[in-house]
Amino acid sequence: MDCIFCKIVQHQLPAQVLFENEKVISILDINPIHYGHALVIPKTHCADFLHIPESDLHDVLHVTQIVARAIVRSLNLEGFNIFSNNGRIAGQSVFHFHMHITPRYPNDNIQFILELKSYSADSMIEYADKIRNNISP
Ligand code: AMP
Ligand code: ZN
Repeated sequence: MDCIFCKIVQHQLPAQVLFENEKVISILDINPIHYGHALVIPKTHCADFLHIPESDLHDVLHVTQIVARAIVRSLNLEGFNIFSNNGRIAGQSVFHFHMHITPRYPNDNIQFILELKSYSADSMIEYADKIRNNISP
């Protein structure tokens, strides 16, 4: 499979590796939002968040916390974002799941431009019911 992150996992492509264990690798993003922007990548290929095997989920989040702590300490941050883009429409460009960890700075002008909605009448219950009916643990 021609997957750039699988190649990084297999050390066939260069990367600045921040941390690695049996299941997860964390590297610096090559085009950072801010310097120190890191990625946390499960070693087993999976396209997105919906496809991570449950057995890898804990490790991905645990390593995200380990690396986020190191970024906060080393860059003396007041805050950071963790996020993942899932699907092209959501901005995903590499279809091997990964978490982003990016430093934040005062007045760094990074923002989602949001127009927040309100639910009308019963529509909040309708949305909740729709989602509840599709929960399959
Ligand atoms: P996304 O758009 O959420 O799929 O994120 C993919 C990220 O991978 C982007 O932020 C890219 O800058 C980053 N990226 C792509 N190729 C590499 C690479 N060879 N090494 C490190 N980061 C990469
Ligand atoms: Zn892959």
